[in-house]
Amino acid sequence: MSITTVPSASSTATARAVLDAAFPSGLGAFVDGAVVTGSGADITLTSAATGEPFASYADPGKEGADALLASSVRGAAAWGKLNGFERAAILRNVGRVVEQHAEELAILESATTGKPIRDARAESAKVAEMFGYYAGWADKLTGQTIPVPGNWHTYTERVPWGVVVAITPWNAPLFTAGWNSAAPLAAGNSVIIKPSEFTPASTVRLAQLAHQAGLPDGVFNVATGLGQTVGSALTTDPRVGKVSFIGSVPTGRRVAVAAAGAGIPALLELGGKNANIVFADADLERAADGAISAIFSGAGQSCVAGSRLLVERTVHARFVELVADRAARLRVGDPLDASTEVGPIITPQQFATVTSLIEAGMNDGGRRVTSGNLPDSLAGSALAGGHWVMPTLLDGVTPSNRLETTEVFGPVVGADAFDTEEEAIARANNTNFGLAGAVWTSDVSRAHHVAREVKAGTFWINAYKTIHVAVPFGGFGDSGHGRSSGPGVLDEYTQTKAIWVPTRAAGSPFPSLSY
Ligand code: NAD
Repeated sequence: MSITTVPSASSTATARAVLDAAFPSGLGAFVDGAVVTGSGADITLTSAATGEPFASYADPGKEGADALLASSVRGAAAWGKLNGFERAAILRNVGRVVEQHAEELAILESATTGKPIRDARAESAKVAEMFGYYAGWADKLTGQTIPVPGNWHTYTERVPWGVVVAITPWNAPLFTAGWNSAAPLAAGNSVIIKPSEFTPASTVRLAQLAHQAGLPDGVFNVATGLGQTVGSALTTDPRVGKVSFIGSVPTGRRVAVAAAGAGIPALLELGGKNANIVFADADLERAADGAISAIFSGAGQSCVAGSRLLVERTVHARFVELVADRAARLRVGDPLDASTEVGPIITPQQFATVTSLIEAGMNDGGRRVTSGNLPDSLAGSALAGGHWVMPTLLDGVTPSNRLETTEVFGPVVGADAFDTEEEAIARANNTNFGLAGAVWTSDVSRAHHVAREVKAGTFWINAYKTIHVAVPFGGFGDSGHGRSSGPGVLDEYTQTKAIWVPTRAAGSPFPSLSY
């Protein structure tokens, strides 16, 4: 049974109802086309909007990880036997089925994570698009013929890794599940997604729908559970060909080191501390709109969030006012209300981190220019116990402030003034991260110069936050390595095999050159 209209109950009851409707026998891992409840420690899910627990499920533990892997090895063998045209047809159907269930997925995502429903709707539509896009590549994975000296026909083939384990974070569980599964599936791998223990529901539902759309057993499994148990077991098992990881820098590094110890390569998409640079010649009204969506959409729980606002000094005071005015008008509230623009912080742990970093930013000299008070509609309601942080703008966040380099991952932007283009570029690059950034200016040459000089995998000119599955996305420096979208990602999920065939007198079968 699926829910396609938002039940009108309290947020906690809604989360419970939506979860029960999706998984009548309880939430668990998804293995061989079925939801399997675990036997390990209980994990409690808490409503971001009310702070109340609404469900729990059991970790699959090491035994569960073993069953997942055995299933995925069988899945990889079966899926790898299909040709690209057959895989393309099934993946296109996955896209169609996800599209048909987009509203149900959006409600499940919003109710169980606290993400505003309008964002969840946009993301579920994007997931359908991801499967459609990579379905288009599944039958176009060609090799090369390579001319070599002598009488040889030499060519390459693309070979899938086998089992790909994708670890995903809590801020965009459904989106990242599509982002890191459609491409490896198109390339002929089976995939195990290990969603965050805080937000597993939409990923399990996505896997169910993909199975229903025709993916054979074991091709798309989901390991609901903890990082240190099932996550760790999956990323260090020799049956795994490749790991992809989306999450924080410390965990990403730990996962990559552990995987490397087992000889498994890892693709890392990590955090960011992204600069949004505004010059005096920009269209300031548009730039202010851009600065708002850059940091406050998703309540700042976004790796590409524009969390540093660098403004040319001559317009700095005016621009800060424009942004603060807009921030004060943002609709903060019930995630399931279609008019809500900013929802709660998804986990209680992250709520504590965000509030303590706001304090740190102020202790380091940042001046708060937005109100921290909850609107009356929240303060006096059943939602008062949720993890709410009001859109926060601190001005005077200088290079020595902790907010200059620390990723907050919440609705908090630190602003400062600059005098020259060189200074703006140096400030933007004053971080070990290198994920994203933007410049707002009417000077075309300056725009391109700044875009070239700022260390970032994605950069926008007079825009912010658009990403698309067809365009390469990934980071420099601490933000990770490898790209997780665009056609190039198919190289990440295949290995190249070279095949040599002597044509006529190819020469000695034992050439003197050896390697
Ligand atoms: P996190 O690093 O705490 O957890 C990420 C995932 O790793 C979770 O599924 C977790 O269970 C798992 N994990 C933890 N320990 C593990 C272990 N030992 N072995 C295997 N898996 C383990 O990250 P988070 O708090 O869930 O997400 C927030 C972070 O994600 C932020 O830093 C954000 O910038 C980053 N992020 C990056 C991108 C990107 O594309 N670059 C996108 C979204 C989020």
